[in-house]
Amino acid sequence: MDLYEYQARKLLEEQGIDIPRGIFAQNSHEVAIAADTIGYPCVIKAQVRTGHRGQAGGVKLTKDQDEAILSSEQILPMTISGHKVSGVLVAEAKNVLHEYYVSISLDRSSRDYDVLATANGGTEVELIAKECPESVKRLHISALEDFDIEAARKMAESIGFYHADLDQAADVLLKMWQCFKQNDATLVEINPLAKIGNPDDESTKRLCALDAKISLDDNAAFRHDDWARFADTTHTDLFEERAKQHGLHYVHLKGEVGVIGNGAGLVMSSLDAVSAAGEEQGTGVKPANFLDIGGGASTEVMSNSLSIVLSDPQVESVFVNVYGGITACDEVAKGILSALDKLNASKSIVVRFDGNAAQEGHKILHEAGNPNIHVCVTMEQAAQEAARLAKPGKEAVR
Ligand code: GDP
Ligand code: MN
Repeated sequence: MDLYEYQARKLLEEQGIDIPRGIFAQNSHEVAIAADTIGYPCVIKAQVRTGHRGQAGGVKLTKDQDEAILSSEQILPMTISGHKVSGVLVAEAKNVLHEYYVSISLDRSSRDYDVLATANGGTEVELIAKECPESVKRLHISALEDFDIEAARKMAESIGFYHADLDQAADVLLKMWQCFKQNDATLVEINPLAKIGNPDDESTKRLCALDAKISLDDNAAFRHDDWARFADTTHTDLFEERAKQHGLHYVHLKGEVGVIGNGAGLVMSSLDAVSAAGEEQGTGVKPANFLDIGGGASTEVMSNSLSIVLSDPQVESVFVNVYGGITACDEVAKGILSALDKLNASKSIVVRFDGNAAQEGHKILHEAGNPNIHVCVTMEQAAQEAARLAKPGKEAVR
C-alpha cells in the first residue's frame, strides 16, 4: 500500500523527524482556512500516489490566501501520471539552503535493506543517478545486525552530509529506520531532506523533511489495526473492498466475463484465453475481473466468490476454471450450486474442472440440471463458450 504524502508525514512525525506543519484539504474553502492557520508563505501540494509532482505543476509556493486558493483550484482537478489528485496538503514553506535525498527500501535479492542517499537531492533519484552517479551512495542495513546511532553516524559520513549536518543526519537516518521497521514498510523515502533556515544565521539552520514517500507491506496488515486510517475512501472499488473482506484475491477489470480460478497462473491464463476468444469471435469481449480462490478452497469460498463476481452489473457470463489439487472439484461444484441458489442468478456459468475430484464435480453439476451451468472439457472451449455467452448472437460471421 502506497501512502499519500500527508499520511507518510504522520508516520515520520511519530518518530520525531522534523517536518514542516501541514494540513490536508479537499476544496478551496478548506484550503483558505488551512492556509490562514499555517501562515504565509505556504506550499500547496497535490496529494497523489505518485512522484514528480513538482515537475507536473502539482507543488506551488504561495504568499497569501488568494494565491493559495488559486493554486489549489489549479491543482485539485489535476491528474498526474494517470492518478487523480485526491486533495492538497497545505504546508508551511521553508527557506531551502540545500537538498539531500535519503531512502530505505527492502532489497529482496540480498535479503537486507538498501539505503540510497545523495547530497545532491531534490530531483528524482533516477535522474541524479544518471547525471551524477558517483554522488549516489548505496549502503546496506543488515536484517540481522543492530542499526544504532553509531552505525547511522558512520553511514551519514559516507553519504557526504556536510560536517555541521552530521549529527542531525545520523538522527534522521536512525528514525527513518525505526519508522521502516515499526511500520513494516517496504520503502521510506525523504526527498528532499532539506537544510533550511536563514543563510546568515547559523543557529537557525537544520535538517527538515519536505517530502515523504512510504509504502507499507500489505502482507503485514494483520498486525497493524491502525492502518485502517490509511484506507482510501475516495478511490476504493466496492467489489475489491468486498472481496478483501472475504480474504479473496480479486482485481476488478472492465470486461464482461467474470473469471474465477485457483492459482494466480491459471487465472491469468484464463484471462488471456477469454480475451483471445473475444477477439477471435469479433465481439471484443474481455474479462471482468481476476479472482484467485487459492488452494484448498471450500464450498463457502466458491460461493462467496461467485456472489461477488455476479454482483458486478458488467458481468454477462462467468468462467470458472479449476484445476483440482488441494482444492477438490466436488467442493467447488457445491459452492457454485449454493451460490446460485442464494442469488437466484440467471447468468451463464461456464465450468471447466480438471484434476482432484473433477468427475465428481461434473456429476454434481449435471445432476443439478441448472440450464445456466455449462460444462466444458478444455480451458479453450470454456473460454470460447463464456465469451460467446457474454454477447449472444453477436458472434462474427466467418
Ligand atoms: P515531488 O516533486 O513529488 O517529489 O514533490 P516535493 O514535495 O519533493 O516538492 C518538489 C520540490 O518543491 C522540492 O524538491 C522542493 O525543491 C520544492 N519545495 C517543496 N516544499 C518546499 C518549501 O517549503 N520551500 C521551498 N523553497 N521549496 C519547497
Ligand atoms: Mn520529492
